[in-house]
Amino acid sequence: MQTETTQQRHRVVVVGSGFGGLFGTKALRRADVDVTMVAKTTHHLFQPLLYQVATGILSQGEIAPPTREVLSSQDNVQVLLGEVTGIDLERQVVTSTVLGRDTTLPYDSLIVAAGAGQSYFGNDHFAEYAPGMKSIDDALELRGRIFGAFEMAELGAKRGDNVDHLLTFVVVGAGPTGVEMAGQIAELAHRTLKRDFRAINTRTARVVLLDAAPQVLPPFGAKLGAWTSRELEKLGVEVQLGAMVTDVDERGLEIKYKDGHTERINTVTKIWAAGVQASPLGKTLAEQSGAPLDRAGRIGVNPDLTLPGHPEVFVVGDMIALDNLPGVAQVAIQGAKYAAKEIEGRLKGKPAQAPFKYHDKGSMAIISRFRAVAMVGKLRLTGVIAWLMWLAVHLVYITGFKNRVTAVLHWFISFLGRGRSERTTTEQQIFARSALARLKHGATDLVSAPGAYDAARELVEESRRHELEMQALEEARLTDSGARGVKQSG
Ligand SMILES: Cc1cc2nc3c(=O)[nH]c(=O)nc-3n(C[C@H](O)[C@H](O)[C@H](O)COP(=O)(O)OP(=O)(O)OC[C@H]3O[C@@H](n4cnc5c(N)ncnc54)[C@H](O)[C@@H]3O)c2cc1C
Repeated sequence: MQTETTQQRHRVVVVGSGFGGLFGTKALRRADVDVTMVAKTTHHLFQPLLYQVATGILSQGEIAPPTREVLSSQDNVQVLLGEVTGIDLERQVVTSTVLGRDTTLPYDSLIVAAGAGQSYFGNDHFAEYAPGMKSIDDALELRGRIFGAFEMAELGAKRGDNVDHLLTFVVVGAGPTGVEMAGQIAELAHRTLKRDFRAINTRTARVVLLDAAPQVLPPFGAKLGAWTSRELEKLGVEVQLGAMVTDVDERGLEIKYKDGHTERINTVTKIWAAGVQASPLGKTLAEQSGAPLDRAGRIGVNPDLTLPGHPEVFVVGDMIALDNLPGVAQVAIQGAKYAAKEIEGRLKGKPAQAPFKYHDKGSMAIISRFRAVAMVGKLRLTGVIAWLMWLAVHLVYITGFKNRVTAVLHWFISFLGRGRSERTTTEQQIFARSALARLKHGATDLVSAPGAYDAARELVEESRRHELEMQALEEARLTDSGARGVKQSG
């Protein structure tokens, strides 16, 4: 176990390299502190564009630059890879692990921005057949599954098989991510791929968007929801509302409708875009501080984003339950900046800030090229104007100039032309994760259990020592007995 040495300056540990983690760390650039950012990935992920990676528009590098590079010019930061497995509020220590090797990080102030993962509402076994959309792994796996389904359909159709289940795509969850995915798959089928295959007509693909709720995009209100539904239908997406998924397997899913009837859709490609569950670190913090947790695992924090009873610990972004704040990037960014300002202010002896107040800069969701919805204050926008706004805002927030330039180029190719520059997929992207999941400790099992390598090396060394000792004894015996050089008889 590696332990960091005690430092002179105020130590801030930031958990997570997402919107909260990155913006919080950046906001501390001029503070007289040493920051350690620890995150379980080496990149800062721009989640709003994951669906474009999954559907071949952007590469993963464009939306996930290395955090180390992004922060390279900020001298007071050290970036560490590791999954935080423990936070000891009493000892003020964070423990992280990577491939079975632990690191402990003492802190004076802590910002926890570990975000949220996918929720399958207690049916975690659905995940194997219906990947979510939370990480680069998810997006690349989905890319492989989506383009792979068209490939398998081509082969099947050439043999004369029924390929309807391969040309059926079901997206579960009609929030922004579900709407974006359904719209993009419809565009792929009806526009991008229409000339690429010989045995199948991709335009016959069935794209279904399901939700148990009675409307699409509930946070956008009834009017924008209805407009979105109509636009999706024009694109060829079948929108099924009041439809609850009750089971998922390799070849399809079972649905129970509001009127009680059930139906099965045969499909190999299912995408889960319903439900979020806050990072389990919320539970760790709640157990030690007594802070409440809501059903989605979000932790109740004080109005200044600190943990009850622990003014040195701030929790921000998707992990918190405060004043019904939505799980959006701006909540994480603004919260993290607020926490950083408070830490710096305390060190300078400034009075505490007023409670955290979220400034809603608006929400947007894209449906397909030239179609989007946007809400800015009281303004409700649809169509091309909303789509252009969406492009501009996302461009501003993509990290790094280089990534902005290449993203614009790829958008030109995909939205004005028909192409998708990032269709490449590999077998490993589709199957390796399931294979890893079957190992008890995931990748750690592949690189041996912690300490097992050293133990094995010690054993080898011991047996080698024994061999050398025996050899030396034999040499000495041969010399002392005068047997050396004497030809032994019989
Ligand atoms: C597909 C998708 C589309 C979205 N679209 C939009 C949109 O259009 N507009 C919008 O405003 N919001 C959107 N969101 C929501 C937005 O991305 C989140 O609200 C935002 O990312 C929250 O920021 P965060 O810092 O709390 O968490 P995240 O950005 O998720 O960051 C969490 C970080 O913590 C790390 N981490 C997690 N657990 C651990 C651990 N145990 N140890 C170490 N590190 C850990 C992760 O690796 C990551 O670096 C979207 C989300 C998704 C999934």
